[in-house]
Amino acid sequence: KVRVRFAPSPTGPLHIGGVRTALYNYLFAKKHDGDFVLRIEDTDQNRYVEGAEDYIIESLNWCGIPFDEGPGKEGNYGPYRQSERKHLYKEFANKLIETGQAYYAFDTAEDLDKHRKEHEEKGKTFIYNWHNRQKLDNSLALSEEEVQKKLDNEEAYVIRFKSPESELLHIKDEIRGEMEIDTSILDDKVLFKSDGMPTYHLANIVDDHLMQITHVIRGEEWLPSLALHVMLYRAFGWEAPKFAHLPLILKPQGKGKLSKRDGDKLGFPVFPLEWKDPKSGEVSAGYREDGYFPEAVTNMLAFLGWNPGTEQEFFKLDELVEAFEISRVHKGGAKFDPEKTKWFQQHYLNEADNKVLTEKFQKVLKDKEISADDEFVEKVVGLIKERAVFVADIWDQGYYFFISPTSYDPKNAKKAWKVDTNELMEELMEVLKAEDDFTADKLSDKVKGWIKSKEIGFGKVMQPFRISLVGALQGADLFIIAESIGKEETLRRIKKAME
Ligand code: GLU
Repeated sequence: KVRVRFAPSPTGPLHIGGVRTALYNYLFAKKHDGDFVLRIEDTDQNRYVEGAEDYIIESLNWCGIPFDEGPGKEGNYGPYRQSERKHLYKEFANKLIETGQAYYAFDTAEDLDKHRKEHEEKGKTFIYNWHNRQKLDNSLALSEEEVQKKLDNEEAYVIRFKSPESELLHIKDEIRGEMEIDTSILDDKVLFKSDGMPTYHLANIVDDHLMQITHVIRGEEWLPSLALHVMLYRAFGWEAPKFAHLPLILKPQGKGKLSKRDGDKLGFPVFPLEWKDPKSGEVSAGYREDGYFPEAVTNMLAFLGWNPGTEQEFFKLDELVEAFEISRVHKGGAKFDPEKTKWFQQHYLNEADNKVLTEKFQKVLKDKEISADDEFVEKVVGLIKERAVFVADIWDQGYYFFISPTSYDPKNAKKAWKVDTNELMEELMEVLKAEDDFTADKLSDKVKGWIKSKEIGFGKVMQPFRISLVGALQGADLFIIAESIGKEETLRRIKKAME
């Protein structure tokens, strides 16, 4: 059975890159009737941020991609927070020591720094490998007794993986294909730290194995760790899952990785939900609070690194599940395009059921202390939604259905109001007053007939009429507006505009 996991570290709000990783995992799981697991990788206590885990869970739920197993949704493989699995990892590190595939290293931080500096001065990167080991504390040369003595003396140690001196590894990625890695360029990575905590690498491999993960789908930034992970599986004698590394998400200009700062600079969110930093109090915008629908966000994210190979661009979540193929994920970085998200949003707003939009728009009205019955609001929503991107835009585009204009567009009002306009408006009011059947069709017939009979241009009446009802030369069909607000209000607004 397919089992995938999303394994974020709770070090802050989930960036949309993380949401995309979660989404692809979700799609892959659902496509193959598999399980989508959330595992919280919180072994690094120093980087733990209050509220981040809740934020992650809320984000996944809002996007409509809930996990099947995870914190608060216990399955057969819990607990799902690594901090609650602490006791497990040491045993596995010990196993590798016993089989000679890992070792205790007692280098001091100063020593390591010194070597790093020496390498830097020569323009080289310091690799903690078989070659450099000997120049450091040469832990591998220590006898078992010597090691034990140091441990008994409580000397600080780490447990390092013993990379093969030089071996050509063949590793496979589902997106990138076969890769060849020479192990002589690899560090002997730390698996276990002196503070009694495992490193990411050890905990991640142990948990993926124990949780029976079949496919690891994660960001490209983890590709450099792949060789180590493959070697760790081999060292434990475990079958490795399949790996797929997703391309980077790039800045809109295409150069470099998309960052939080890009969002601030260009005025669009890079987080699914608003986030208030618990320390600085700084607030970062979120798609949810900015009025985006989750469908728009998941549709946008799905296309950041994947395409269906057809012309189709609009995909609801269930359609994505159907169409998604890991083999169609690109290798190259995916350029983030905030305008595209708006375009998806506009589509899903237009497609949304008017009843659903009515419910949402009623909240906007309530904030403005306007009460209107659902039937009326639904009618307005139906008339206005094609001009809107967000629910809040329905107000900007259709406020005149609910309140009389609070101001008149100065330029157009002046242009529309000629010397004889007030006189015409008086006459118009008489025409309107006389109409008992105050419906758009009837009003249109009557008013247009009257204008024709006067042999004047339509604009001479219709423009000031529109300014009166709307406050500007824009908006829905004027006769529909008149019908909607009723005779009394229509007359009132014209009168007021004449003042
Ligand atoms: N905890 C890692 C992260 O924060 C997980 C990487 C992985 O999926 O292996 O991205």
